[in-house]
Amino acid sequence: MSQEVFLSVVIPVFNEEESLPPLCEKLHAVLDGLDKEYEVIFVDDGSTDRSFEVMRELRDVYPAIRAVRFRRNYRKAAALATGFSEARGKVIITMDADLQDDPEEIPRLLGKLEEGCDLVSGWKKKRHDPLSKTLPSRLFNKVTSMVAGIRLHDFNCGLKAYRREVCEDALPYLYGELYRFLPAIAHWAGYRVEEMPVQHHPRRFGYSKFGTKRLLNGFLDLMTITFVVRFMTTPMHVFGTLGLFSTLAGSAVCAYVALLRFEFGNIQNRHPLLLMGVLLVIVGIQFFSTGLLGDMMASMNQRGGKTPRIADRI
Ligand code: UDP
Ligand code: MG
Repeated sequence: MSQEVFLSVVIPVFNEEESLPPLCEKLHAVLDGLDKEYEVIFVDDGSTDRSFEVMRELRDVYPAIRAVRFRRNYRKAAALATGFSEARGKVIITMDADLQDDPEEIPRLLGKLEEGCDLVSGWKKKRHDPLSKTLPSRLFNKVTSMVAGIRLHDFNCGLKAYRREVCEDALPYLYGELYRFLPAIAHWAGYRVEEMPVQHHPRRFGYSKFGTKRLLNGFLDLMTITFVVRFMTTPMHVFGTLGLFSTLAGSAVCAYVALLRFEFGNIQNRHPLLLMGVLLVIVGIQFFSTGLLGDMMASMNQRGGKTPRIADRI
């Protein structure tokens, strides 16, 4: 089981029975040409069609195939996470099962890794998807680039190549739909992340599994991941700052109202102001306590990069 191979190709699959045979044929032709030891790992994310039976049949033809099947649909992030933990390769490549990603790009992706990259992310430069998908995706990529501090045109491309350590480090964050932020997570962890334009094809069989709620969810996820990865170990830095500002502003407002009371014997109808001052103080204290609770959890939970990852030694 633990015997290492050079390359693992991880493919999440949700109801893609027609795509699997042509995908396997093309993929294996490319992989055989590499002259390196490889494995192909299918993760069947609770398909309700014949996908898993098709994998079983394909395995008889291509012995490098391994497959796991979930009892129900756990979504793509979970499928990738399971693929990563099953993979034995020094290098891991992920791709979609729907024939939209082209296996022919694999040698070029591997070339980039050899040049010293840790994660190479595909960029569907010429994209074959409906406008309802490409426009929101542009906006998403722009905002995510700004927040992540790394400029990528296409965070969400299924085709990516990773050095094994990158996947291992990203595993704790692979749930929900956070897989879209893998390049950002790797960048924050100090890995070298680059983008490479890749071929993209229209979907031939089946249907896209992601609906229109993707954009809103994408932005909410961006907030989550930024917070979880960047402030995992220092929640007080965020909440403490907010709390401090709020409490100070509130105290100043209350002091002003008190001053009025001493000066004129009443507060000169500044009741709304008084309310605001008191509210700011209360909210500030709440921020502080949230920060303290967060810090308590952070110290109980050592994950999230408290121990620095060592890149090299001599
Ligand atoms: N997928 C999955 N679980 C899901 C949804 C999708 O494993 O819950 C797989 C799907 O089979 C495909 C890949 O993730 O291999 C990308 O999905 P899709 O092509 O529907 O996404 P799109 O290309 O529309 O972004
Ligand atoms: Mg697709």
